[in-house]
Amino acid sequence: MLNLINTSFDNCIKCTACTTRCPVAEANPDYPGPKQAGPDGERLRIKNPELYDEALKHCTNCKRCEVACPSGVHVGTVIQLAKAKHGGFKKGPREFMLSHTDLMGSLSSPAAPIVNTVTKLKPVKKLLDKTLGIDERRTLPKYTGQTFRSWFNKQSGTQEQFKRKISFFHGCFTNYNDPTVGKHLVSVLNAMNIGVSLMKKEKCCGVPLIANGFFDKARKNAELNMNQFARSLTETECVIATEPSCTMTLRDEYPEVLDVDNSDVKDRIFFAAAFIAREFARGNQPDMKPLKLRVAYHSPCHLIKAGGVIHTMELLSSIPGLEVIMLDQKCCGMSGTYGFKKENYNTSQSIGQGIFDQIEALGVDYVVTDCESCKMQVEMNTGHTVLHPLTLLAQSLT
Ligand code: SF4
Ligand code: SF4
Repeated sequence: MLNLINTSFDNCIKCTACTTRCPVAEANPDYPGPKQAGPDGERLRIKNPELYDEALKHCTNCKRCEVACPSGVHVGTVIQLAKAKHGGFKKGPREFMLSHTDLMGSLSSPAAPIVNTVTKLKPVKKLLDKTLGIDERRTLPKYTGQTFRSWFNKQSGTQEQFKRKISFFHGCFTNYNDPTVGKHLVSVLNAMNIGVSLMKKEKCCGVPLIANGFFDKARKNAELNMNQFARSLTETECVIATEPSCTMTLRDEYPEVLDVDNSDVKDRIFFAAAFIAREFARGNQPDMKPLKLRVAYHSPCHLIKAGGVIHTMELLSSIPGLEVIMLDQKCCGMSGTYGFKKENYNTSQSIGQGIFDQIEALGVDYVVTDCESCKMQVEMNTGHTVLHPLTLLAQSLT
């Protein structure tokens, strides 16, 4: 079947709007930018695969070029597919470890206190830097001793009292690293008289697998997830996810990048803030007490791509007393697994510097963002605590 997404490059009118919005092209002179790497390069690669440019490895798939493009060219996707087709992914032990989040989580979580202590030690970080190429300056994510699923299963009976129910796709980070956002989602939805249920099984959405070239594994995960969604949706209204990258992948990357048909469930997959904002607009809003806080909001790239920032802003503006300052819509530079890699560290930091400086100058109580990867980057570079919008909503419940 003709992949229409991959032929979208033919719509390119060579305006270079994409290149002016690419954070990597701005920070790294080795990257020619989306226009050259995407539509221009694709025309050449079709004629002669030897014209494949190794510099494509620098693209983080942040999708900012796609947001900028007036002609609807799926630039980021064209680049990912070209990397896959022409062997542009280096798939070593580091890439395996960073991308197989289910496996790493299920191995690390039962030994969380030990893993968290060991991965903080300087000699261990140096060793990971020298042997695997995971930059020693990077703060490594902590694991939780009690996964979100095991916490949820212990109290899942309380969800039976609700007539309305949604299915929650928790994702790897909420399950294995920090269940806070998942717990807060349950509190907020329950306060709106909506119960939560989990899929019987759930696999990583595939975003880190795609970013590191493990397409077959990502496809397997996608097929399992779509199967589980279809079953779960016979008993619940919709599937919601709190992580922008997971939501974008489940909705858009499955058919576009992995060739996995999600047409029977796609319209029932929502970003959590979009679902909650719609409920609020219909009058299903819990009582909220004022939060006298001044916060800076950072919008994640994949949420901008999905057009979802407005829903998060709607939720934040519904909290009485909360002052929200919108940061410039710039990339933080972390881009999931990209920022962990030694060769990307300087570019990653350089991309995020504008955001870090802005946060320091504002002197806010907290930074707020919807993405766990952005949270890691901002906390490491500013010393500010970063909260999820759902955490503020949960704190404001009376
Ligand atoms: S996806 Fe992001 S990094 Fe890649 S070309 Fe587009 S803007 Fe640049
Ligand atoms: S923004 Fe779109 S139309 Fe303009 S150069 Fe980039 S891909 Fe082509």
